[in-house]
Amino acid sequence: MLSQLGEEARPLAGGQSLIPLMKLRLASPLHLVDLNFVPGCAYVKEENGTMCFGALTRHAAIEHSEVAARIPILHDCAAGIADVQVRNRGTIGGSVAEADPSGDWAVALMTLATEIRCLGNNGEWNLPLADFVKDAYTTVLAPDELVKEITVKVPPKGSGGAYLALKRSAPVYATASAAVQLTMDGEVCRQAAIALGCVGLTPIRVKDAEAALRSQVINEKTLAMAMEAARAAADPQSDMRGSAQYKRTLVAGLVKRAVDIALRRARGEQVEVSPIYA
Ligand SMILES: Cc1cc2nc3c(=O)[nH]c(=O)nc-3n(C[C@H](O)[C@H](O)[C@H](O)COP(=O)(O)OP(=O)(O)OC[C@H]3O[C@@H](n4cnc5c(N)ncnc54)[C@H](O)[C@@H]3O)c2cc1C
Repeated sequence: MLSQLGEEARPLAGGQSLIPLMKLRLASPLHLVDLNFVPGCAYVKEENGTMCFGALTRHAAIEHSEVAARIPILHDCAAGIADVQVRNRGTIGGSVAEADPSGDWAVALMTLATEIRCLGNNGEWNLPLADFVKDAYTTVLAPDELVKEITVKVPPKGSGGAYLALKRSAPVYATASAAVQLTMDGEVCRQAAIALGCVGLTPIRVKDAEAALRSQVINEKTLAMAMEAARAAADPQSDMRGSAQYKRTLVAGLVKRAVDIALRRARGEQVEVSPIYA
């Protein structure tokens, strides 16, 4: 149907980004193709060590999913998005397709082995998340192509992660956010993935911060190096949420706290996370 209607048609999922944009007249599609009528697109399941999320899976369904809870960073992210109303309608597929620089999902998913299963007239194909997001509000998808599924490899034993966002209130996007996913071997960090949100046009993966922790014991010195790398990698704009300098300092602090929680979770501790309200 999207192909038949051409570029003036847009798919509609939860409507939590598209409908507000239409109300503001920032988007005026001639046709909406409502994906909610397509059966079988909302699910969370685990198959052979891979977690699979149908594109139409609501944030709330992931928040309350026992399967998804096996990867705590996903629960942190889902449970912190806006308020109950938005979480009950908004979908993970709509979020990654929207590629909003302030969106939460892509930041958390960036620290995991995440692939986007795409669907178009020529069939289906998989892309790593990092190759799927091209720019702010821009993905590789053509107007008649869809996100079908998001898949995430379940991290190995000894792994822990955390997603932390600082928000002014629940129904607003974060001022800044940080996602950290670690795999520990005793006291030594074997793998580290660190991503920042709301401080660039796309989520920023901080390779220097990861290198500061990888193959090291995480202590004050290595953590300070990771924080400094996060501060340097952030490329924020000054806006009503804070100055660029404030946001740089903020992401460094969020990385520190997220590393601490990720470490405790890697040791098997149950740690509750919710957004930090300013
Ligand atoms: C008050 C409010 C506060 C919010 N706060 C946050 C927040 O704190 N953090 C956050 O991350 N998000 C926030 N959101 C956005 C919310 O998470 C949206 O659910 C999400 O951005 C888009 O998902 P959706 O299912 O609503 O998509 P829609 O609005 O239906 O669609 C969004 C875009 O993606 C396209 N699209 C949808 N599904 C697909 C698909 N399967 N394949 C290809 N293209 C598709 C649509 O055509 C459209 O261009 C907020 C929204 C509101 C209204």
